[in-house]
Amino acid sequence: MRYVSTRGGVEPVTFSQAVMMGLATDGGLLLPEFFPGVDGDTLRRWSALPFAELAVEVMIPFVGSDISRNELRQLVERSYTGFNHPEVTPVVQLNGYSVLELFHGPTAAFKDVALQFLGNLFEWLLERSGGRLNILGATSGDTGSAAIYGVRGQQRIDIFILHPHNRVSPIQERQMTTVLDENVHNIAIDGTFDDGQRIVKALFNDLAFKDEFRLGAVNSINWARILAQVVYYFYAWGRVTGGDPSRGVTFSVPTGNFGDIFAGYVAQRMGLPVERLILATNRNDILSRFVNSGVYEARSVHHTISPSMDIQVSSNFERYLYYLMDERPLRIRELMDTMSKTGCMEVSEARRRQVAALFQAQAVGETETLEQIRETYLDSGYILDPHTAVGVRAAKGVAGAVCLATAHPAKFGDAVRQAIGVEAPPPASLQGLMERETRCELLSADVGVIKAYIQNTLSARSG
Ligand SMILES: *Cc1c(COP(=O)(O)O)cnc(C)c1O
Repeated sequence: MRYVSTRGGVEPVTFSQAVMMGLATDGGLLLPEFFPGVDGDTLRRWSALPFAELAVEVMIPFVGSDISRNELRQLVERSYTGFNHPEVTPVVQLNGYSVLELFHGPTAAFKDVALQFLGNLFEWLLERSGGRLNILGATSGDTGSAAIYGVRGQQRIDIFILHPHNRVSPIQERQMTTVLDENVHNIAIDGTFDDGQRIVKALFNDLAFKDEFRLGAVNSINWARILAQVVYYFYAWGRVTGGDPSRGVTFSVPTGNFGDIFAGYVAQRMGLPVERLILATNRNDILSRFVNSGVYEARSVHHTISPSMDIQVSSNFERYLYYLMDERPLRIRELMDTMSKTGCMEVSEARRRQVAALFQAQAVGETETLEQIRETYLDSGYILDPHTAVGVRAAKGVAGAVCLATAHPAKFGDAVRQAIGVEAPPPASLQGLMERETRCELLSADVGVIKAYIQNTLSARSG
């Protein structure tokens, strides 16, 4: 399998090259040249497989001859043994709908499913090429810890994560700073999340520095993250249909950067019987406005009780747009250009109808989110986290929907307590966090200071 850029400016690359490249060198996003098809018999067979074996089957055609089946199986098994549920992503039946629990990984949020795999994949590829990688990122909370847990203890990777000092939740801060592995470097900056992003961007644009220190990113534009997420759509379908290819399923997906729901789109394109994909957003509703109006327009970010979905522009959306526009890179360049110049772009009503044939979108406010947590608790005794509650609310009235549960409710105790008066018992991974030893550097929000810190840390590590 080879990968091409949505903007058409990259010669087709292999799977490994696509993983190491992350963002395409022409500024676009990488996509497979075609979607491998899956027929009814295969679906039936796959529905009987345990998660890790299914993951190998789903991934192998996308990996091609780059990694052997046996090596891929080892990578997958290493990635999911750390999950604290034997099914990895179990499906729980509630009253008229189900919940696909994606939060049994080490940081109790769904990003672990992809980042555990990506960390092992990076290490494996670097071992083969004899290289090293330094991952740099800014986080407002959740992605940072999942990325840290994805690469902690790896021999060929160091990771530097910037978070705004005293501006992430205490649990989120501890999840990052209690990881004491030598290759993990937490930096609290004396500033905001935007400052962190600005610094990271400046360092990635410093090409001499970027090349010398082999800087890489782990954000949601990496194709391997999408691929790892495709697996659980197949898994959940098998659990709720018993593997009957004539039965379709509707998935409801709490959406921010469009990575998770795009994985559902890939599954559908491969032949998984997906009836609808419900795109659920919080007040930051750029995507639901797009599905319902055809206009994609950035507005200012609102802070909500589902903070991992507080985004303005969705980095993975361009991947979907590429297919919507009949895989024409020139058209994508025009649209993205209009978007960056005017903050807005639009597709025709015919195209919008095409979107709406598969996607159904709804923005869910704070009050409704809290109400949904309360309603589900009263009705099933099950505690939803606020992100998952957004998806459950958007699926209201859709019988049999599978709602993706993207975070463990114990991670968002304040919102849960506000809704139902009690908090969810924490999973083992979140227990005792506040008592553990921490390591973190507090630095000023200055590009030069951060750059010097990275240089000094790395030369001390290699010396
Ligand atoms: C990242 C995240 C989301 C949004 O997923 P995208 O792939 O960015 O759409 C939803 N819920 C939680 C808990 C998250 O961490």
